[in-house]
This record gives sequence, C-alpha cells and structure tokens, in this order.
Amino acid sequence: MQDEATVFADPNDRASQETDMAIELRNRDRERKLIKKIDETLASIESGDYGFCNKCGVEIGIKRLEARPTATLCIDCKTLDELKEKQMAK
Ligand SMILES: [Zn+2]
Repeated sequence: MQDEATVFADPNDRASQETDMAIELRNRDRERKLIKKIDETLASIESGDYGFCNKCGVEIGIKRLEARPTATLCIDCKTLDELKEKQMAK
C-alpha cells in the first residue's frame, strides 16, 4: 500500500494538488478551444473568407491578424462584443 502516503498527505498538499489539477484542466480547455479556432481559421482560409469580420464583413486588417491570426471579428465588433459581455456579467 504505497498510496497511503498520498492519501494521508498534508491537507495543504492535497489542496495544492487539486489546484494544479484545476489549472491543468483549464489549460487543456483553453488549448482545445484554440485548436478549434485554428481549425476554423484554416477552413476560412480554404473557403476564401479569411480576414473578414464574421459579423459585419469588413476586412479585419493585417495588423490585427498579425497580432491575433485566429481573430474572426473586426476590432469594432470585438469591442462591442466585449462591452456586451461585461454588461451581461453585471
Ligand atoms: Zn465587424
């Protein structure tokens, strides 16, 4: 029974293990979302829609795409979206 040491470990250690696990899960979730975004970006390049805002259809702009190649909204729509999200969170 080697696992006993782990089971009866200092509760603080166990708490930090759980935190590590939560961080790990969050990172994986973020990676999964990023991979999905990259897939969508690749698909939009193939269909010729890449670089245009999903909402208003305007060109997103090379500067923004350089900073964030997976951007699907122009800076105006993105800003609006974030404003709305903040209002919803209130
Ligand atoms: Zn837009």
